[in-house]
Amino acid sequence: MQKRQQIRIDGIVQGVGFRPFVFRLAKSLQLTGSVLNSNTGVLIEVEGSIDDLSKFQSRLRQEMPPLAQIIDFHSSEIAVKNDDRFIIMQSEHKGESSVLISPDMSLCEDCLNELLSPADRRFQYPFLNCTNCGPRFTIIAGIPYDRPKTSMHVFPMCEKCTSEYHDPADRRFHAQPNACPDCGPHLKIYDREKRQVNTENPVKHAITLLRSGRILAIRGLGGFHLVVDAKNEKAVEELRLRKNRAEKPFALMAANTDVVDKYCKITHREREALQQQTRPILLLPARPSSNLPKSIAPKSKYYGFMLPYLPIQHLLLQEDFELLVMTSANFSDEPIVIGNEQAFEQLRTLADYFVIHDREILQRCDDSIAIISAGQQRLLRRARGYVPAPIIIKNETSTPILAVGGELKNTVALSKGKKIMLSQHIGDLDNPEAMNFFKSSIKHLQTLLEIEPQYIACDMHPEYLSTKWAYEQFLIPKIEVQHHHAHMASVMAENDNTRKTIGIILDGTGYGMDHTIWGGEIIIGDLKEVSRFAWFEPVPLPGGNAAIKEPWRMAISYLRHSFGDAMHKLTLPILRDTKPNDLQLLLQMLEKKVNSPLTSSCGRLFDAVSAILDICPKITYEAQAAIELEMSVKTALQRNLAYPVKIDNYSGAVSFVPLIREVVNDKIQNVPNEQIAARFHVTLAEILVSLAINARKEAGISQVGLSGGVFQNFTLFNYLNERLRGEGFHVLTHSKVPPNDGGISLGQIAVANAKLS
Ligand code: ZN
Ligand code: ZN
Ligand code: FE
Repeated sequence: MQKRQQIRIDGIVQGVGFRPFVFRLAKSLQLTGSVLNSNTGVLIEVEGSIDDLSKFQSRLRQEMPPLAQIIDFHSSEIAVKNDDRFIIMQSEHKGESSVLISPDMSLCEDCLNELLSPADRRFQYPFLNCTNCGPRFTIIAGIPYDRPKTSMHVFPMCEKCTSEYHDPADRRFHAQPNACPDCGPHLKIYDREKRQVNTENPVKHAITLLRSGRILAIRGLGGFHLVVDAKNEKAVEELRLRKNRAEKPFALMAANTDVVDKYCKITHREREALQQQTRPILLLPARPSSNLPKSIAPKSKYYGFMLPYLPIQHLLLQEDFELLVMTSANFSDEPIVIGNEQAFEQLRTLADYFVIHDREILQRCDDSIAIISAGQQRLLRRARGYVPAPIIIKNETSTPILAVGGELKNTVALSKGKKIMLSQHIGDLDNPEAMNFFKSSIKHLQTLLEIEPQYIACDMHPEYLSTKWAYEQFLIPKIEVQHHHAHMASVMAENDNTRKTIGIILDGTGYGMDHTIWGGEIIIGDLKEVSRFAWFEPVPLPGGNAAIKEPWRMAISYLRHSFGDAMHKLTLPILRDTKPNDLQLLLQMLEKKVNSPLTSSCGRLFDAVSAILDICPKITYEAQAAIELEMSVKTALQRNLAYPVKIDNYSGAVSFVPLIREVVNDKIQNVPNEQIAARFHVTLAEILVSLAINARKEAGISQVGLSGGVFQNFTLFNYLNERLRGEGFHVLTHSKVPPNDGGISLGQIAVANAKLS
């Protein structure tokens, strides 16, 4: 018996080859009907036997194109029409659109084969792509996603490209960025005086320059990279010098996973993660035998590796290099450079040569950073490959909410129904360029979702530039969300979980409900509200922000707090090496309580211990002291390593004096840092487990959420996560958004939505 079904699919289903796929699938099952792009996604009508229809539905999900993502799927039976074939119909564009755009994806296998086949008309053409790969988010000015609304609009397609574009049987059917050497963008090389280098083959020339140790600024997908030969120690050091970047690790791009395996131990799971089309930078444990230049990642036990995702990267890494340093082109924490002119101006002192192209980058987008931990991929920076795919929540927002995020590692987010669209990583708002990026990202999200926010969710911190901007939007009501509540809500929202939770939020800095600086918090509650169950006993932060940049200050603060005047008798390197004048000044500051706000920050506890152990008394990049403390842990953490510290109170302010005393004792006894650091990690985690057990007793909740910047420490995360599970907790962890402030905007929306409903 014949039946007819109407299927509506919402999700990332346009511009990714979905219609031709449906067309081929329907034909192979001898079904009749039609498929078309609608303003909400894709609309299919299929007619055939019940058996074939059910095969169609299951194969639709199983075999859909790689870039497609189904969010909603509705199927209903309608009257039989007795068509004689299956057709792709003209798109239907009416009313408000909610079509989602795919993130940018790495070159697919088919395109790579063409790139490398001398017989192909796109042989060695650096801008080839198809519906299964290539630029999307970064070339879009507006919707609907058609060529005129992208930066490809200045390249009219040649005859051959046009016929591919209109042929449903072709891989490039409706591939908006479709191009070839005859009609598309091209590469050029310039020197730093902005003189064009005369060359037939810019890629070959770039290889020659890299071979001779030159630093190249290469315009990529979401911005410029600075690139050098990773095995040329001098070149890597020169790059460090010019970038004024003393110690923060550089990312590497390797030709393939076998090359990565030479330098890092990689698991099967990590191999897969490197190869996925989102192509994040993956943090991988370095092999001790690795003989790469020290200056690539000094003091780190990880290398950040990615595989080529652009044609030009494949060409550079094909035969001539197996490894390149590939770092964002910017000064310290400024946003990555995207424009050609901007590059000539701003990167003049950084790069020797510029490899540029004429396909404008409309949306800046950094490389994403991920790690595999506890069997899952965890994002530390969410940008290229992931944005603008939405986070989906069941508890849909009834009104559009804009969330403006935090201050550092900022992202913004906008909600529409059950979709929450996060912006790419924007960065630290304290420079004008980043603030412009912040504003344009908000505009762009509004364009993509075609809505105006009715509420703005922001942090409670009155000095955050994002909060200040929110209050400049006079006409839109604001909902303030406490920073650590937002952290907890972000881990709940990405797991689509609304149940009562014990939040273990370990963070650097956040404005507390009592107007002091919080950061080591055990909170209990739900998306709507939380109460503070326990927190790290506050200690003074001498010099305020200066103490964040100079962890030795935090060490002195903790030493004074833990030992009083007896601290002067301690034979610690940090006391020996601090200039007597500086020490005196700092102690007076603490004594008189001048410029020494109290903080319960967990990040500052790590800073203090790192400085007490003389690992990192001064930092050159954010969180360096805490990172190096983690890096000094060389052994697997085990419960029996915990210091025998007694914590008297299992709620309220929890004192870390006993732990600091143990650490200091060991340091004085010349116990190796490696051991002390491991014992510190285990003890801290055990204290947190005890606090969670106590919170469970008191509140009758056994779900824990882990969030906050300190959870970028995967040594701590893995141990704590496992211990909590062992104690019978249901543990919510981050995988889709970062545990750091990059996830704050998502949490703000979740809280605002709960408060509004
Ligand atoms: Zn392709
Ligand atoms: Zn063409
Ligand atoms: Fe935070």
